Amino acid sequence: MNFYSLNKKAPKVSFKDAVVKGIAPDRGLYFPEKITPLPATFFEEIDSLSNYEIAFEAIHQFVCEDISQNKLNTILEDVLDFDFPVIEIEDNIATLELFHGPTMAFKDVGARFMARCLGHFSKEKSNEVTVLVATSGDTGGAVANGFLGVEGVNVVILYPSGKVSDIQERQLTTLGQNIAALEVDGTFDDCQKMVKTAFLDAELLENMQLTSANSINVARWLPQLFYFLFTYKQLKSKNKEIVFSVPSGNFGNICAGMVAQKLGMPVTQFVASTNVNDTVPQFMRTQNYKPKPSTATISNAMDVGDPSNFIRIRHLYKDNFDMLKQNLSSYSFTDAETKEAMLKIYKESGYITDPHGAVGYLGLKKFKEEHPSAYGIFLETAHPVKFLDVVEETLGKSLEIPPQIQKVMDKEKNSIKISTYKEVKDYLLGR
Ligand SMILES: *Cc1c(COP(=O)(O)O)cnc(C)c1O
Repeated sequence: MNFYSLNKKAPKVSFKDAVVKGIAPDRGLYFPEKITPLPATFFEEIDSLSNYEIAFEAIHQFVCEDISQNKLNTILEDVLDFDFPVIEIEDNIATLELFHGPTMAFKDVGARFMARCLGHFSKEKSNEVTVLVATSGDTGGAVANGFLGVEGVNVVILYPSGKVSDIQERQLTTLGQNIAALEVDGTFDDCQKMVKTAFLDAELLENMQLTSANSINVARWLPQLFYFLFTYKQLKSKNKEIVFSVPSGNFGNICAGMVAQKLGMPVTQFVASTNVNDTVPQFMRTQNYKPKPSTATISNAMDVGDPSNFIRIRHLYKDNFDMLKQNLSSYSFTDAETKEAMLKIYKESGYITDPHGAVGYLGLKKFKEEHPSAYGIFLETAHPVKFLDVVEETLGKSLEIPPQIQKVMDKEKNSIKISTYKEVKDYLLGR
């Protein structure tokens, strides 16, 4: 399988090169040349397949020549060694809990898959790879954990100082080994800009093999399609129209869901739920894509003003707005609405959501106003304790800290404070 650049000014590359490069030389995102639907029998019999078998069938076509079937199986068994439960909290409304991985963020699957692919590829070369990644919250921890100790790979994480939660910060600043954290005096968009500048910096590129671990990297982005298939497996016997509401920031997760749909998974609609960073909801109203600086919110992993994967979504729908609109609805919600929803869900069902999941719930409710018979799933993308302060304050209740989180709370933070791109570059060049 080859991947082409969405800017169409760079040569096609293999899966391996797309993973190692991260982004095409013309700055475009890589996109698979072909998405071949899985046979109808796959979906008819999905409830008799294991998660590994489902994942293998779904991802195999994208990586085929570059990783042997045996190796791919080993990687998937390693990556998917936890549960993805679907829990009904109201009639026709369920949550898909994606937080049972090692950092309790849904990004664990993509980050671990990418780390194992990159580890496999860099073994064949003597060259080390440096993974440079900007995080608005959860990416950093998941990437740090996924890549920890992977030989031939160094990881440098940029995060906005004071704008990630205490737990998130600990998860990316306490590991050491091949993981370094740069604490940027600025916003997530500033971090992302620095990363993008580094990828264009000829002097850096001469000195090192740089790659990204954001969802622009195909090995981070594509495995997320598993979640939707695992959910379908659990809901198929209900025989209902399925709607997914995805709390969205960079729009990688929801775009992967749309790839699952292209693979033939029956789903009626995707709802992209956002906080007040509403570039996409605005676009779906006006057809006018106007990126803007990000605004800080309580669902900080979604504080993105110019979502990098939205271009992949538009491309999936051939830039046809009417076609896109038939599959995608998008709504935005304020922090006040989010807190109100967290409290309402807790009071009515006893279920505790984190702010991101609550935004997903709100988007689903909004969609269901006009489609009451659909079965809706909102993705719970992080464990509530990762947003401890806001959850405890909103619910007036203290949460129990799970052991994998307690472990990092006791470790010492280790970050390098920076404020300019030059400092990032000097760090990377060891100056
Ligand atoms: C990253 C993240 C999101 C947004 O996912 P995208 O794929 O960037 O849209 C939502 N919730 C949490 C908790 C996240 O970490």
